Amino acid sequence: MMGGTERGRTLACTVCPHACRLGDGQVGRCRSRGSTDGMVLPVSYGRITSFALDPVEKKPLARWNPGKYLLSVGTFGCNLSCPFCQNHTISQVGQDEVIHQFIPPGALVELTLNAREQEPRVVGIAHTYNEPLVSWEYVSETGVLARRVGLANVIVSNGCVNGWVVDRVAPLVDAANIDLKGFTEEYYRWCGGDLSTVRACIERLAAEPGCHLEVTTLVVSGHNDTPAEMDALSAWLASVDPDITLHVTRCFPRWKMGGGRPTPVQTVLDLADVARNNLEHVFVGNV
Ligand code: SF4
Repeated sequence: MMGGTERGRTLACTVCPHACRLGDGQVGRCRSRGSTDGMVLPVSYGRITSFALDPVEKKPLARWNPGKYLLSVGTFGCNLSCPFCQNHTISQVGQDEVIHQFIPPGALVELTLNAREQEPRVVGIAHTYNEPLVSWEYVSETGVLARRVGLANVIVSNGCVNGWVVDRVAPLVDAANIDLKGFTEEYYRWCGGDLSTVRACIERLAAEPGCHLEVTTLVVSGHNDTPAEMDALSAWLASVDPDITLHVTRCFPRWKMGGGRPTPVQTVLDLADVARNNLEHVFVGNV
């Protein structure tokens, strides 16, 4: 059983705080994991929906391998449900609602090596676009193979997975960008997540030798845009590691908030200044 415990006739998935109970054939809230033949398995494993050669800076990573490129892949599903999600066409759907192509770990590594032959600035693989850690097995198995041939592993994640998952993946991660969406439990409830779990993930990755960590806060007007919240968020990050890089980015709402007004640029600039009172490395995005 992978990431599941048995209770009666259902299995409880242990990968994230939602602790979905799954009857045989059911998928969880994330649509990425499901119960099959008495096991909880990642149904999105290797089912690639999105594929691009992206600059490292686009992840965003501002202080790790500038000018280099990552073969970036996404699957489908997410354990959060942020109403403003900009990638909802892959994050809020299941396997029958989106086109995907199965690329096993070895083939993805091979594709990345081929890309590096064409473009020597390719340094590795990024698991991004939707939530990668709900299918952590794919990240982990690809990561082992990538390391063997000198490729780097990058994750872009909401960080809302239980500690044992982070423990499994962290030693294989060369760089991570973790969302810290806001700094109140109320905001995280609105997004369908759990602040304390994300904080624990950030602390764990910050402590991992060899893992470069950056954090992103997407500012959503009227929801997480007060100076007090940004001050608390950035002060806490500084207490974890004052060298952590924070990206304060502008939201262009999509999905349930589609058509909503983008965050004013000045709000993002002002909140970045608030964060700079606590952190040395603060960048703005989407402005
Ligand atoms: S990873 Fe998915 S199936 Fe497992 S508990 Fe979280 S939402 Fe539920």
